[in-house]
Amino acid sequence: MSGDPFTQALHGDDAIPDAADVGPPIHVASTYDRSEQGELVYRRNQHITTERLEAVLGALEGGEAVVYPSGMAAIASLLRYLNPARIYLPADVYHGTRSYVTAAPRAWQAVEAFDDLGPGDVAWLETPSNPKCLITDVAAVAADLGSRGVTVVVDSTFATPVLQRPLSLGADYVVHSSTKYIGGHSDAMGGVVVTADSNRAAELLEARVIDGTIPGSLDVWLTLRGVRTLPLRIARQSETAASLAEYLDGRGLLVWYPGLGTHPGHEVAARQMSQFGAIVSFELSSYEEAAEAATRFEVFRRATSLGGVESVVEHRASVNPLAPPGLLRLSVGLESPADLIADLDAALIPT
Ligand code: PLP
Repeated sequence: MSGDPFTQALHGDDAIPDAADVGPPIHVASTYDRSEQGELVYRRNQHITTERLEAVLGALEGGEAVVYPSGMAAIASLLRYLNPARIYLPADVYHGTRSYVTAAPRAWQAVEAFDDLGPGDVAWLETPSNPKCLITDVAAVAADLGSRGVTVVVDSTFATPVLQRPLSLGADYVVHSSTKYIGGHSDAMGGVVVTADSNRAAELLEARVIDGTIPGSLDVWLTLRGVRTLPLRIARQSETAASLAEYLDGRGLLVWYPGLGTHPGHEVAARQMSQFGAIVSFELSSYEEAAEAATRFEVFRRATSLGGVESVVEHRASVNPLAPPGLLRLSVGLESPADLIADLDAALIPT
């Protein structure tokens, strides 16, 4: 089988022994009959639908995947497992990640420069970042820090395994909130850690059994169903996002989209991503103006989260005080690009 994501998303789990159903069954049992042949004991330890999802996500990223009940559970589990003294966090990073690292009573020290890191520390990259879609050159950072004994982690939620493969660029771990594009339908929560090192993956699995952080059956099954169409969805959503970014740029707004030649990370993004993703952020002149504009959309739903088939707009500073006050974040879905542009046009008329 080729490594093509269109094929891997559909057949990455073919080797998992399960029913003959072409659409995978959902297994809900919490415990298994020990008089049956086989190794299944208890769902917190092992679950076939979960193993299917892990096989697909591992195939897509080029490593071994361990899934969790949310993106934050994946992030928290990985950081507890690595337990570094210091963690580099970029200035623009998902605010939940920053809260987890800096919340009491943890002993982790958050640093802002790679030079402050030493052996055993962690460089936490998020590229593209939330919400400004800033880009980090993963290959350059991994080459520099890897030789100094620093562990490099990439939160690749905005890129998906289809547009960017951080492990092939030298990262040690990649994480995703699968609540976003991987699930893709705003109906399931999940997270995943992927590493090319099978010993580390086995240790993460052991820790998950002890922590009790295996995801629920329905979420895993919905995510497995969602990931089958990920390559198709993210390709179309990225294409539409690029046309919306051009439109907003043409209106003279400050637009954060790595596909625009004016974006500071454009060249690196063009090298390490196959498309530029489906998040477009842009800035209006004030908190009030942006909060008000967010109420005027009809096609875009006003909601948090991102990565679903439906387009969503969010005034980020309303939920994250570190976001620029006038920033609106668009998660571009599968609607017609013309309808989305008309919706933006109507919502932004007074600006
Ligand atoms: N990482 C990024 C980049 C995110 O945007 C989010 C959520 O918005 C998360 C992680 C956390 O994921 P979850 O909400 O599934 O816990």
